[in-house]
Amino acid sequence: MNGDVGIPLIQTHQLQRNYGRGDATVAGLAGIDLAIHRGEMVALMGPSGSGKSTLMQILGLLDRPTSGNYRLSGSDISTLSGSQQAELRGRRIGFVFQGIHLLPRLSAIQNVELPMVYARFSASERKALARQSLARVGLSHLANRRPTQLSGGQAQRIAIARAVAPGPDLLLADEPTGALDRASGRAVLALFQHLNADLGLTIVLVTHDSFVGRHAQRIVELEDGRIVADHLVEDRIPPEQLMEVDV
Ligand code: ADP
Ligand code: MG
Repeated sequence: MNGDVGIPLIQTHQLQRNYGRGDATVAGLAGIDLAIHRGEMVALMGPSGSGKSTLMQILGLLDRPTSGNYRLSGSDISTLSGSQQAELRGRRIGFVFQGIHLLPRLSAIQNVELPMVYARFSASERKALARQSLARVGLSHLANRRPTQLSGGQAQRIAIARAVAPGPDLLLADEPTGALDRASGRAVLALFQHLNADLGLTIVLVTHDSFVGRHAQRIVELEDGRIVADHLVEDRIPPEQLMEVDV
């Protein structure tokens, strides 16, 4: 991937996404111009229905825009085939969602390994990366637990380990703390801040909670599918003491 710091990791030009057809068309996105550079941690905020998830789906190559253009590390993704997009997604983009989607029959470490099976990493590479990633989120000791034996906060941290294990450039998190209690939510936010600061991982997280947003460096606000504000966070909340060993 292009290491030139001058080229944004994400650059969109007049992105539009319409749902439905004819008279029934709903504009999910109505022309988004957005640039995000490597190493940024950005919170995407806005009321329900403002287009946050639609934008995340497009940035994550899970959906295509109706019009406009999206460059990831300078490459126009619309020229890529579906399988090229899937390859890029599997190796370069990690996802974390609100509802924690761990597979109940697999152990924590098997859950972390699974996407790397699809992204065609070798078995030994998978195991090494999964172990490293569990260590990074402070949960090596829970590697063999099933999801039902984890707290909500622990499960979300396993989901984060899964998202970052392949070494993506970009982490996309849609309401990652929405289902968690305050303390678990803060642990997740501190983890994001560490991954951002220590690994230089670029993070885009969606939230409608300004307390959550203030953990980012920059807030982009959407309304009716448009960017209505884009500013640095002046009173950023620093990572709280983290990694108390929770058994
Ligand atoms: P947010 O995540 O900010 O709540 P969304 O991106 O989910 O907003 O939705 C933006 C707009 O697009 C809303 O008007 C929503 O109803 C519409 N929308 C989103 N997904 C779909 C869909 N699959 N089909 C039809 N309309 C949709
Ligand atoms: Mg949403």
